[in-house]
Amino acid sequence: RRYRKTIIAGNWKMNNTLSQMKAFAEQIKPIIPKGKWCNVVLCVPAVNITSAVRLFKDCHIAIGAETCHYEDHGAFTGEITAEMIKEAGAKYVIIGHSERRQYYNETDFTVNKKVHAAINAGLIPIVCVGESLEQRELGVTMELISYQVKCALANVPADKMRHVVIAYEPLWAIGTGKTATAEQAGEVCQAIRAVIRKLYGAHVARSVTIQYGGSMNAKNAAELLAQPDVDGGLIGGASLKPADFVEIINSAN
Ligand code: PEP
Repeated sequence: RRYRKTIIAGNWKMNNTLSQMKAFAEQIKPIIPKGKWCNVVLCVPAVNITSAVRLFKDCHIAIGAETCHYEDHGAFTGEITAEMIKEAGAKYVIIGHSERRQYYNETDFTVNKKVHAAINAGLIPIVCVGESLEQRELGVTMELISYQVKCALANVPADKMRHVVIAYEPLWAIGTGKTATAEQAGEVCQAIRAVIRKLYGAHVARSVTIQYGGSMNAKNAAELLAQPDVDGGLIGGASLKPADFVEIINSAN
């Protein structure tokens, strides 16, 4: 574990207006642990990134975006580039979240292009992979995850891998209240590290942060984070509640 960072990242999705974010900041500041050894991130709606960077600076929460476009400029109405996100002060960007794959036609191919765009802009991509319930029941979880990881990382050079985070998010666990067992989460995160080892060697594999995501909360976080290959969490619902989010951060400390 000392080879890699533990990262607790919230994914706010389409939640929290500017004023709600201000209220969240006021609530979390007095209770967030100081001297934590994990990195804490909040991925917020793009329109609020600049304000978030300012609001959370003094409690050492880094800010991330929830997606980006893969081109660096052009006629893509409504989209934003990785460079825009970077210049707004964010450090991270979620790539290939299952909701983006499901509702906005993101594919393993576009995920790869976005990973490159993020890296080129100096952002840390949090690359989401995960199987559906049907795929788990068919017994193809490991093949699928391996395929998704390989596609996402295609042509990413080894020296950039220090700035890549993978999030294992089984679809059946996202927003459902149904969490993967610690064993299931640990098993897949271990398999992801094995894929990275095959692609890049042992040195890179042990330096990459691999998160679990899917109904992680204040109650189950400690057990999930105790798995040797689970280096953090990507947290949806529970990241909207300051007390719960802090409890998850404390579980990682
Ligand atoms: C997510 O969407 O990244 C997520 C893990 O959501 P939740 O924690 O609400 O399941």
